[in-house]
Amino acid sequence: MILDGKKLSARLKAEMASRVAGMEERYGRVPALAVIIVGEDPASQTYVRNKVKACEETGIRSIHIALPSGVRERELLDQIKRLNEDPGVDGILVQLPLPPHIDEHRVINAIAPAKDVDGFHPRNVAGLWLDEDCAIPCTPKGIMHLINESGINPSGKRAVVVGRSNIVGKPIAKLLLDANATVTIAHSHTEDLARVCREADILVVAVGRPKMIDGSMIKSGAVVIDVGINRISVPTPGGNISRICGDVDFDSACEVASWITPVPGGVGPMTICELMGNTIEAFLRSHQE
Ligand code: NDP
Repeated sequence: MILDGKKLSARLKAEMASRVAGMEERYGRVPALAVIIVGEDPASQTYVRNKVKACEETGIRSIHIALPSGVRERELLDQIKRLNEDPGVDGILVQLPLPPHIDEHRVINAIAPAKDVDGFHPRNVAGLWLDEDCAIPCTPKGIMHLINESGINPSGKRAVVVGRSNIVGKPIAKLLLDANATVTIAHSHTEDLARVCREADILVVAVGRPKMIDGSMIKSGAVVIDVGINRISVPTPGGNISRICGDVDFDSACEVASWITPVPGGVGPMTICELMGNTIEAFLRSHQE
């Protein structure tokens, strides 16, 4: 069965839109998200466009700030400082990756933790691991939403996460642990990855290598979450065309998995949806103080 992130995110965004509609009257304004993009990377531009579109769909005010690729780090930090101090801005997102002359850690650290809707600031990372009320990174949060909405209970299950990045692998492992799964994190040094993957009742793959996990590496009846977004070139009679594919070989995985996320249409739309959710939560937290 398909874990349909497109469908679930559409429903959640519609629910958010009706909540946001009531906020203008209750609080005098709607939540606002500032999205900063540096440079002209086409993939980043697409992600930012999709985020701005999701703001429109949910009624969240978006502030789109595009800076040239040569912008000085100081200017970017000053921009973030202004947004931190602006009481009309609830969430700040800096689209990654940044050009090499800008220190990503310094930029993330400069965002006020209360406005860090990506959940990347050290204060929010610590909050996640210490079970505090904080912004949870959007991709792992979206994955858990998909799992829970489908009635899959991770409790007592063996979960394997392939990939140990700070934005996906580590936080999804923590969320699965919180849901009482027994979690293994695999990475590029893992010996006999196929055997490790075959132990998984829930297999989350966040590697960035097209179709790396095939059906032979998946336990019969497993839940498969494919986080990967890879652009590949596919030959057609009319010439090569560019396509998006995941880290899992969907066709062979479908033969053995019980549930699987498609790419596109699985984790991707959920990530954007959770960003809207985190912006609304940041807005509500600031209005509780
Ligand atoms: P990173 O490059 O930060 O991390 C990749 C991880 O994969 C690393 O931990 C690396 O191990 C591991 N890895 C690489 N090669 C192998 C291998 N042969 N066997 C086992 N593990 C391996 O990637 P991200 O976590 O940022 O992203 C992963 C994928 O998810 C990308 O395709 C990205 O585009 C996509 N993505 C999708 C999102 C969505 O919304 N759907 C959101 C974020 C990312 P090691 O640490 O040892 O190097």
